Amino acid sequence: MNRLRQALLATRLFGDGGRRLTRLILFLSLLVAPALAAELPGGFVRLSDVDPTIRQDVRYAGPGNFLGRRVDGYEAAVCILTPPAAAALAKAQKALATQDLSLVVFDCYRPKRAVADFVRWTRQGGPPDARWHPKVKRGDLIAKGYVGVRSAHSRGSTVDLGIAPLQGAPAADPSCGATGGKTLDFGTGFDCFDPASETASRISGDVSKNRRLLVETMTAAGFRNYRREWWHFTLANEPYPRKRFDFPVTAD
Ligand SMILES: [Zn+2]
Repeated sequence: MNRLRQALLATRLFGDGGRRLTRLILFLSLLVAPALAAELPGGFVRLSDVDPTIRQDVRYAGPGNFLGRRVDGYEAAVCILTPPAAAALAKAQKALATQDLSLVVFDCYRPKRAVADFVRWTRQGGPPDARWHPKVKRGDLIAKGYVGVRSAHSRGSTVDLGIAPLQGAPAADPSCGATGGKTLDFGTGFDCFDPASETASRISGDVSKNRRLLVETMTAAGFRNYRREWWHFTLANEPYPRKRFDFPVTAD
């Protein structure tokens, strides 16, 4: 092989190949770019773009939930909602700010694949769990109504939340449900699957007062509470009452 042929071969292998590779990478990055930029489908917004003062503690994106791990479909710990639901939350937040309080959201829009993950996990069965479902076996969570095979959250106008003080010492952590929420005392934490989480359950004075404040604030902003979970609210006038979505929860 003479030098010219060697050079031609090297160009073909590395020079051209390198350029081709670069072009291929550029082309692929263009294809992938929209996914990485994580455009939301029309009709949805990130809550932080509507009201950045609302605290977010989105539990299914990490291990601090009843499954003890990240849930399918949660690529980021962010709250996504329909615009009217986000606007209504901003209204509730404004009302609380005058009392040196803030909303803190635990879950918002929830993809269908996340709900399917809950169902698969539940059907694997297991004993009660002192932290999340102290009296109910894991395999009974669906039958007892604590885990649904479909969720209002997938419609984009349902939110799980509590209220936290802007300053001062947070309430002691509850023995059942999410820990470290730093909210007012609601008697249980978010996702405590127990009768104690029923909004009207009789617990000590401050707990009732705090649950009442949450329900009244959210009702005034246009939401309805689910009586079995003090933290769960759906916008009364939701834009997609019959539609469930499955796009992943992503950050900007
Ligand atoms: Zn909920």
